[in-house]
Amino acid sequence: MSEEKKEKTAAELLKEKLLIKNESGAKTLDRSEIEKADEFCIGYMNFLDNAKTEREAVDCAVTAAKARGFTKYDPSAVYVPGDRVYVNNRNKAVMFAVIGNTGTKNGVRLGIAHIDSPRLDLKPNPLYESSNLALFKTHYYGGIKKYQWPTVPLALHGVVALKDGKVIDVYVGDDENDPCFVVTDLLPHLAVDQMSKTMTKAFTGEDLNVLIGSRPFRRDNESESVKLNIMNLLYEKYGFTEADFVSAELTMVPAGKARHVGFDRSMIGAYGHDDKVCAYPAIMAAFDTKIPESTVITVLTDREEIGSDGATGMKSTYMADFIADLARADGMELRHVMAKSTCLSADVNAAFDPNYASAFESNNSSYINNGAVITKYTGSGGKYSTSDATAEFMAKIRRILDDNNVLWQTGELGKVDGGGGGTIAKFVANLNADVVDLGVPVLSMHAPFEIVSKIDVYETYRALLAFYND
Ligand code: MN
Ligand code: MN
Repeated sequence: MSEEKKEKTAAELLKEKLLIKNESGAKTLDRSEIEKADEFCIGYMNFLDNAKTEREAVDCAVTAAKARGFTKYDPSAVYVPGDRVYVNNRNKAVMFAVIGNTGTKNGVRLGIAHIDSPRLDLKPNPLYESSNLALFKTHYYGGIKKYQWPTVPLALHGVVALKDGKVIDVYVGDDENDPCFVVTDLLPHLAVDQMSKTMTKAFTGEDLNVLIGSRPFRRDNESESVKLNIMNLLYEKYGFTEADFVSAELTMVPAGKARHVGFDRSMIGAYGHDDKVCAYPAIMAAFDTKIPESTVITVLTDREEIGSDGATGMKSTYMADFIADLARADGMELRHVMAKSTCLSADVNAAFDPNYASAFESNNSSYINNGAVITKYTGSGGKYSTSDATAEFMAKIRRILDDNNVLWQTGELGKVDGGGGGTIAKFVANLNADVVDLGVPVLSMHAPFEIVSKIDVYETYRALLAFYND
């Protein structure tokens, strides 16, 4: 059958002019673009494997930045366009700046992602023995569905700070020959009671106790000899005692590496996409920015998952203090810089999931493979607790993305009144800057194994790069 070249009808022409095109994002990309996305994500998967906690993420990012010419910021030094500096806040948050031609005079360009992810933190006094098993008590961090965490292999990451000032790194469960840990669950045979409970009651915070050992120290009459044996192993390997747990940041994270997902390997499954999936594109965009017009600042922040309170979260003054230092060097005041500053709050959104379609409004959801998602506002109820980007700023971002052929989409976080959530956007907006959320759609967000599309990760990098260099 021969292909017939038809004239477009008047309706088709008008549709092209007036309506949003509904073709699937990935279909509009050519093979080479998709290959670039796959290539980019090799680096991202490596980052995921090495940056499960905020401390590890800061460590990875600073090491990579130093190799690309970033040096520690000195407030008394004089910097020129193209200089690259970083500020490390307590090894838990970090800022990377590339000095622009106009410095801070016309405001700064901010790209901010968070590097903390939901997990099970150990309590200050975590170690105990019960029925000849040794366990850790945990206090979950961030919004988790508790039932997802039992029977998942866990790894222990973190630090123990000793009174003499020494800080010991702990990292067990992610090397191939390491043991791992686990929260147990009740067998279905005996779960008649448990199964009749609602999800929030079937597993409570106090049930998230992690199994860490079962062999006694030796055959004698001492009580709690399994606990003693575990503490002895920890002491032999790391040199800390039970009293030192109180000055530790130890956390249980899902063990294992990031995986390709799907026969087509189009997606990545891993712990902690939220929000390393924006942190990695943000630092790569910073690294690939040579001499921007306005100074570009990429922030990897902490504590977003628990409301951004604390010295290393976005409610802290640490970012504004740094911008104030840069402003002073330009003879500017912070408030004048902030008023002209623009920010992409690089965070994830919920990807439309056909298994849970009723939670989403299909016209205003983000979809896997449709590119970076712009979220004009988050919050809940009648737009409570959100900054809501202005029309003018939305127009500016659209223009930047379209001029640079970035694949992008818009999305709300689920149905109105379906729940809600927030990002760091409002804390930056409250400093009197223009902010909008832009990031990667995620399936199974906050689960031990979250899913993203490789194309969306790459397009988020391209979006941030375009924004930085506009
Ligand atoms: Mn997030
Ligand atoms: Mn989150």
